[in-house]
Amino acid sequence: VLDFICSLSLPIDIISFKGHDMLAPFTAGWQTTDLNPLVIEKSEGSYVYDTNGKKYLDALAGLWCNTLGGNEPRLVAAATKQLNTLPFYHSFWNRTTKPSLDLASELLEMFTANKMAKVFFANSGSEANDSQVKLVWYYNNALGRPNKKKFIARTKAYHGSTLISASLSGLPALHQQFDLPAPFVLHTDCPHYWRETEEEFSTRLANNLENLIIKEGPDTIAAFIAEPVIGAGGVILPPATYFEKIQAVVKKYDILFIADEVICGFGRLGTMFGCDKYDIKPDLVSVAKALSSSYMPIAAVLVSPEVNDVIYSQSNKLGSFSHGFTYSGHPVSCAVALETLRIYKERNILESVNTLAPKFQRVKQFSDSPIIGEIRGTGLILGTEFTDNKSPNEPFPPEWVQ
Ligand code: PLP
Repeated sequence: VLDFICSLSLPIDIISFKGHDMLAPFTAGWQTTDLNPLVIEKSEGSYVYDTNGKKYLDALAGLWCNTLGGNEPRLVAAATKQLNTLPFYHSFWNRTTKPSLDLASELLEMFTANKMAKVFFANSGSEANDSQVKLVWYYNNALGRPNKKKFIARTKAYHGSTLISASLSGLPALHQQFDLPAPFVLHTDCPHYWRETEEEFSTRLANNLENLIIKEGPDTIAAFIAEPVIGAGGVILPPATYFEKIQAVVKKYDILFIADEVICGFGRLGTMFGCDKYDIKPDLVSVAKALSSSYMPIAAVLVSPEVNDVIYSQSNKLGSFSHGFTYSGHPVSCAVALETLRIYKERNILESVNTLAPKFQRVKQFSDSPIIGEIRGTGLILGTEFTDNKSPNEPFPPEWVQ
């Protein structure tokens, strides 16, 4: 699996007809009329082919998700079998399906950084993070703490693009033009370590977080959300002692810790989860992407026993957890995810990540190049910051990377 941030987009073949009919995600309107899209037709391992038969190395593995490559027959077989048995049944009102139950059990067994008690299924990382917010609000309502509702996220984080998950994200492009972030979301520093020692830097960031909590009032802050390694925001690794210090602060003020493992989960960093690598003990976890090697859309929220106990014990009083999606726990997605997790175990995915990682990270030898500001990475994640002026680390102007 090769996976790194491609800052430069792939070449677009110029043919006479231009434009298309999609309102395309994360694409400028003028691009859909003035430029031909790159239309990918088939895949082969880590390679994809466009409609002209041109072959590309899919360096980003889809969108950090196609972990088993393009042609895994076992995943196709798992989907086919489930489609032939039960293509769909829902999980509302205490009805569900066997693949959903089996996948929930498997996830609880796999996540060992902290004990987890329950699994809620969604269809995307964004939905998982939206669900986190509702869960946390339900939890604080159940505890009779109606004011403890604010979230703290970090600048440069990416948690999705729905209204709430985009609010949690710390990237200006997701906020501008959409009147976001929502007022209950605050942002603290991105841990992009720069000049001081890592320890001093982590202490300063933890102090900044504590000051923000005190300024807002600890009784108003419900949860802190973080990716173990910031992915889409530029592959930003936590400096030494960062998570230790941040966790101490959130614990002190009875604030829940949500680990967004949507990119880091399932081996990318060389440990099964990013939480294992950085000794994070989360109360809630979001996973998606590699959960099904992206063959079917699926995401999950893992809930700690402490949070679940509150939700469970108050359910008579507060009523049902009235949140969910038609496709929560879709049986075909769950069957594919279960097979994906089986493959990770059988093929010892961690061993292959850790064997490949040193070779992959050799890209860092180009750090001294005049067009490279910094190369950051660990395991099978790597980000290269290109610059046209080495000293102030200015990024290339946007028109250079179209
Ligand atoms: N969280 C993280 C860390 C992500 O990287 C992403 C997507 O890249 C999301 C959440 C949102 O996932 P989705 O695009 O499936 O909604």
